[in-house]
Amino acid sequence: MTLNLPRLRDGLPVLVVNTRTTSLPPVFDAKNDIKKAAQKLRFDRLKAARMLMPNERVAKCLWNKIAKYVEGWKSKTEMPGHFRKVAMCGSLCMCPVCAMKITERRKIELEAAVNAAYRIGWSPVLVTLTLRHKKNEKFLLVLGDLVKAIERLRGRKWWTRIVAKYEIKGSVTSLETTYGLSYSWHPHKHILFFVGRKLSDEDMRELQNEITNEYKKILKKLNRTLSDIHGVDVRGGDKNIADYIAKYGHEPKSRENKWTLAAEMTKAQQKNSLRLDGHYTPFQLLDFYLMGDVDAGAAFQEYARVMKGKKLLTWSKNLRAMLDLGDELSDEDIAAMNDEKDTYPFALFDGPAWRAVRVIPFEVLESMRTMDFQTFKDHMESLGVMIESDEFKTTTGENR
Ligand SMILES: [Zn+2]
Repeated sequence: MTLNLPRLRDGLPVLVVNTRTTSLPPVFDAKNDIKKAAQKLRFDRLKAARMLMPNERVAKCLWNKIAKYVEGWKSKTEMPGHFRKVAMCGSLCMCPVCAMKITERRKIELEAAVNAAYRIGWSPVLVTLTLRHKKNEKFLLVLGDLVKAIERLRGRKWWTRIVAKYEIKGSVTSLETTYGLSYSWHPHKHILFFVGRKLSDEDMRELQNEITNEYKKILKKLNRTLSDIHGVDVRGGDKNIADYIAKYGHEPKSRENKWTLAAEMTKAQQKNSLRLDGHYTPFQLLDFYLMGDVDAGAAFQEYARVMKGKKLLTWSKNLRAMLDLGDELSDEDIAAMNDEKDTYPFALFDGPAWRAVRVIPFEVLESMRTMDFQTFKDHMESLGVMIESDEFKTTTGENR
């Protein structure tokens, strides 16, 4: 079937919803199905990422088994289940499934950091830096200049003065990239500064002016200018951050009412809300690709190649120790962790079974979620997938 859909380069202003396809980004206002829809979306996006990056680890993610049997784990609380004993790529930039797991963990850590900072009288200040770029500039170039500019900003004597003046104790830096119809790649860096005192409104204004002036000088030397629209954004930690944290647990409906400071830093790629201004996250490009847009696929490939191996979140030296957070786990470590609460092993899939299951992971997990074992076994048999019940018995039990 040929999909007659506009391509990104046609200047499509909003996401086209075509009910004939199965890979549509869901609109997150259906309360009951949010988690299910989000899981399905991630599996669909992973499928696209595998196709686009066949030589990368992401191509093996949730695809290659790493033991004799892949295990299907079921939730005791009607949450979506998951698979174990299968390769997890741990690629934050390329893999929507691993990125969800990694960013969820990073978000919790960052929330803990912000709370710990408040407890000892510090306060968080979020600075966002970007730069003006031309349409159709290569992502590598724009990102390279942004990284260079921020390195220079923080490598100057001027910076030592700022650190002392505002009592900056440390920082966490994250990179967010969007792709727009009218401006191509737009990377920006969020730097969450932990300052050792409460900054007044005047302090904040002064800090913003000081950073803006210095940053502009640096950009000029790189033949760049400050973006008119974005400038240098400096804001204090949200007073209601504890409230936000308590409420968190669903995909955000909008930046304004759900998105916490910590989530802003860690979950940029997870944003799913349909944005009318044509800003798309790299993972949203995968949705377009699945709808037949080859330009969106090529754009994702460009992003993935540039970002390969890069860290999206960086803690300054000693900050974690000061906030008593312990050692940082790698993305790969987090992706490989099996620490889902209230889950139990439910089904085993041998090689042939897994090869059938891995192409419909969402459907199988949904069946697992809603069926008892015998019903599930019968259901899978009707699909031609045999599950070995003896093996299942030997590896499931309350003591596991
Ligand atoms: Zn992965």
